[in-house]
Amino acid sequence: MKVLKFGGTSVGSAERMKNLVALIKSDEPKIVVLSAMSGTTNALAEIANSLYDRENDKAKKLIDALEKKYEGVRKELYSKEASLSKGKDLVKNHFEFIRSFTLDMFTANEEKAILAQGELLSTAMVHYYLEEIGINSVLLPALNFMRIDENDEPDLKYIEENLKAELKKYRTPSNSPHRGTGGLLFITQGYICRNAFGEIDNLKRGGSDYTATLIGAALACEEIQIWTDIDGMHNNDPRIVDKTFPVTELSFDEAAELAYFGAKILHPTCVLPAQKRKVPVRLLNTLQPDAKGTVITEKTPTDRITAVAAKDGITAINIKSARMLLAYGFLRSVFEIFERYKTPIDMITTSEVAVTVTIDNPRNIDAIVKELKEFCSVELDKDQTIICVVGSFTAEKQGVAVKVFDALKNIPLRMISYGGSENNVSVLVESKYKKEALIALNKGLFNL
Ligand code: ASP
Ligand code: MG
Repeated sequence: MKVLKFGGTSVGSAERMKNLVALIKSDEPKIVVLSAMSGTTNALAEIANSLYDRENDKAKKLIDALEKKYEGVRKELYSKEASLSKGKDLVKNHFEFIRSFTLDMFTANEEKAILAQGELLSTAMVHYYLEEIGINSVLLPALNFMRIDENDEPDLKYIEENLKAELKKYRTPSNSPHRGTGGLLFITQGYICRNAFGEIDNLKRGGSDYTATLIGAALACEEIQIWTDIDGMHNNDPRIVDKTFPVTELSFDEAAELAYFGAKILHPTCVLPAQKRKVPVRLLNTLQPDAKGTVITEKTPTDRITAVAAKDGITAINIKSARMLLAYGFLRSVFEIFERYKTPIDMITTSEVAVTVTIDNPRNIDAIVKELKEFCSVELDKDQTIICVVGSFTAEKQGVAVKVFDALKNIPLRMISYGGSENNVSVLVESKYKKEALIALNKGLFNL
């Protein structure tokens, strides 16, 4: 069994949905995970925001506009009367459901129910299209098996048990219409799930990748394919740097570092389930299906600099205290405060009397600073960017740091972090230097 995930642009129009068929119709058994059509989740979030703000007229207008878009897609996608009418009911039902929230109270639960509609629509639309052109497929409801626990973490055991139970319903007995088609084609929704209370929830924005790797891990699949519009993970950010190239092979560790550090192609936590069950993840391009893309496996290449990535929106917090000198327990008291505010720390550097940490989620920063100030002095630097060089550099390997710093010699470095893992050297720079830093590293590390 393989898992194939297609993102929003790959189902972004009737035409793109039709093109998808070529990529999924082979006889191999597979589970196809789909995102919502591109723009839909944003539109649904905007509708939810208007409802929160009690701007129901605005919400109604947004709902009408989105429904109109889906009506257009429906008419373009189907040509037979049966599917046109099934599609019509589908669109009508989902939008009636969304509209029902304009009548009543609106809370976080309703918001999640609204956000789930995009994937429910896209999967059903593709399923009906396959039906129209005579390809058997099964619509697998993600809400029957995809689940997160009280800590919002996917519950892999639950997912495995329930997904297997769901699939069992479609074992091909001798009288099944699927017999002889070589296997089954399952279509399911990315992103959406249930939470510990059984309510509709989601795996956070961009979470369809996560759905795919969770399914791949739960079934110990042969391969997980993530189809996007880019030919794999690049050695540098192609939106900023001119000459970049796709990296053909990555280790899970390298991919995890890159995904977190802003390589938009993969959801940051989605590498973990695949790594846990050693299922290869392949990044492929819908627009160039024959291109090699990037394959992520356990295999760790040695001694190489693989790629550069950057993450914006970082705040550095400099914490200074005479009490830190020769003291133990100081860092614990600092970290405890971040823990209490559920704020992850990314980079850390220390000196004997000070420590600087970075965070990417400034939501609770005022409260954190207030508590820190009770026992140390605090300074903030906003608008920072982490530039991260990923590769495999063992401690014995000399020369990696010098290459990185030589490339960055004209750029002021706010923090440097090396040695945390064998896969990462990170520096923090003011965001205004990001472009220059990425270009300099492309030249210095890859001769481009
Ligand atoms: N549709 C969701 C989003 O836009 C999930 C995804 O596309 O991965 O965030
Ligand atoms: Mg995505």
